[in-house]
Amino acid sequence: MFILVVNAGSSSLKYQLFDMDNEQVLAKGICERIGIDGRITHTRLADGVQYRAELAMPTHNEATRAMIDAILDKKHGVLTDMGQISAIGHRVVQGGPWLTKPTLVTDEAIEALERCVDLAPLHTIPHLQGIKGCKSVMPDTPMVLVIDTSFHSTIPEYASTFPIDINVARKHNIKRYGAHGTSHRYVTQECLKYLNKPAEETKIITCHLGNGSSISAVKGGKVVDTSMGFTPLDGIIMGSRCGGIDPAVVPYVMQKEGISVDEIGNWMNKNCGILGVSGVSSDLRDIHKAIDEGNKDAALAYGILVYQIKKFIGAYTAAMNGVDAVVFTAGIGENDEHVRFDSLEGLDYLGIKVDAEKNRMAKKLPAPADISADGSRVRVFVIPTDEELVIARDTLALVK
Ligand code: ADP
Repeated sequence: MFILVVNAGSSSLKYQLFDMDNEQVLAKGICERIGIDGRITHTRLADGVQYRAELAMPTHNEATRAMIDAILDKKHGVLTDMGQISAIGHRVVQGGPWLTKPTLVTDEAIEALERCVDLAPLHTIPHLQGIKGCKSVMPDTPMVLVIDTSFHSTIPEYASTFPIDINVARKHNIKRYGAHGTSHRYVTQECLKYLNKPAEETKIITCHLGNGSSISAVKGGKVVDTSMGFTPLDGIIMGSRCGGIDPAVVPYVMQKEGISVDEIGNWMNKNCGILGVSGVSSDLRDIHKAIDEGNKDAALAYGILVYQIKKFIGAYTAAMNGVDAVVFTAGIGENDEHVRFDSLEGLDYLGIKVDAEKNRMAKKLPAPADISADGSRVRVFVIPTDEELVIARDTLALVK
């Protein structure tokens, strides 16, 4: 059975085609510059054959057409007939209070997704365009929405409610929805395979650390708290996002700098975080280089990052009354040995001890790399995330 996974952004459409008999990716690609001009890069995984082309893509409809043509092409394609694709799974970043589990695309589901535009316009509008594009090319193929926020829908009310006027909160659906849920779910499922305990008794802290970062507390396989909030701006310091700050800073900066609502939103998302503090870059590889060259602000940005990760681990251990495993994933979590080591340093009273050598070698160890030291009560894993596989599995489960 072949499942196509689609991740539609505002000017891009990423895709992966899975053979679900063995969960192998047959082909993957990206259509970029949609609405500008249009470019596709498509790769057939079996032999690495690549196809690149500049094609006019005024909307997501043309991008979808280009994706399907690439998949069916005689030279670089992998299928002979569109009808071989059993279903399409769409990644959805924000489901609001309306979409809390994988959902078959119907008129009602589209209506629910349209309601999410208010909560996350930058993601939801492109999702809707991607769905429309797929419908225009493959009107009879079943489609499923796999929603990032759904894994966080188990967070108890006392952890998901912001202490603001409850009437305003309810009127505008303001609460902690979290983000990266599909990634937190994947690494949780992988981690559970290696803890010698029934899933209901486990306590796991998952750290998705990338350009955007979030940390989740997962008790008995269910999320009980997460660091991202109403939007992906909350939580720890990120590449260029500030994370959680005193809310009073916002009107203060607006007043002092004479900037508008839109401008402050842009500032908090694009000019703050590791980039804003270091003045160097949002990319940790550049930060390490700058630290080596003696840049004190780069060292400060790095110090904030590892301190905040440590604080969340402490808080979530308290929230769950213990922890069995800490998992690192995404760009920083999978690649940056320093962040893993420094954020877990000094947590031995919680039973967390990292083996320096295993941590350094994590990339070379078979996944999931267990980097905990002998005698560590808490296991520490590095698990490469695979959101697309989760989407393919959910899609298959629903259409079967
Ligand atoms: P996104 O949130 O955009 O999906 P990723 O999960 O791909 O981001 O993470 C990207 C970030 O990961 C980069 O900005 C960089 O900070 C970090 N990163 C990637 N590779 C490395 C590396 N080898 N060492 C340290 N950090 C890395």
